[in-house]
Amino acid sequence: MSSAAPTTTSTSSTTAVEPTSTEAPTTTSTEAPTTTSTSTSVTPEPAPAGVGHRDLIGREGWGAAATGAGLVGHTIDRLTVHHTAGVYTDNTETPGRIRGFQSFHQEQGWADLAYHHVIDRNGNVYEARPTSAKGDTFTGYDPTGHYLVVCDGDFTQQIPTDAQVSALVDMLAWAAEEFAVSPDTLGTHRDYAATACPGDGLGNLVDSGALQAQVEAQLAAGGSTLNLLSPQDSLDRVATIEAGNS
Ligand SMILES: [Zn+2]
Repeated sequence: MSSAAPTTTSTSSTTAVEPTSTEAPTTTSTEAPTTTSTSTSVTPEPAPAGVGHRDLIGREGWGAAATGAGLVGHTIDRLTVHHTAGVYTDNTETPGRIRGFQSFHQEQGWADLAYHHVIDRNGNVYEARPTSAKGDTFTGYDPTGHYLVVCDGDFTQQIPTDAQVSALVDMLAWAAEEFAVSPDTLGTHRDYAATACPGDGLGNLVDSGALQAQVEAQLAAGGSTLNLLSPQDSLDRVATIEAGNS
């Protein structure tokens, strides 16, 4: 863990994570006035022609704390996109940010990070809560049955990178096959609860149907595979990310 965490306090400089800025019940009003500021349309990249593939950075790689008690099993029946609500500026900080998110969520009494997978701005994918367990939320919806994938960033103020969207398409295509759910079930947090999450910068990509179309194209091209890296490979990958090389 320590080798992957040169600066364990790196997340402290980023005060806005989804729980505090968007997910927290008290902050909805602060997000709402600013949501119209993101008017930039996102032009997604064409879906890849072949089978997609993603490596999954294991929990050991980003220095996850142990999962706590209280996981509740569920059966995934839909795909739901989130953002972390923290403005990113430097992807080398993402592993540390994820540790910060986990700590914050576990301080709520939750067993683990609220989500199943995290995607950073460079398209790296991180293992979070087991997909076999339902997520958690600060907001008024029941996450039972939701595959929860969260993209790092605040997309009320930013737009996702092409690499991030590409990884998201792969992960959603993977999840659609893995859990035998239709891409028709694709939605965002704000479809279910009073929240700005995941912001217009990402949410409009879902609402327009553009993201679903990409997922369907990826499925038509053979889907996407996911390879959980070994603990050592996960550590190595995170070291590469923290060095600014991935
Ligand atoms: Zn959310």
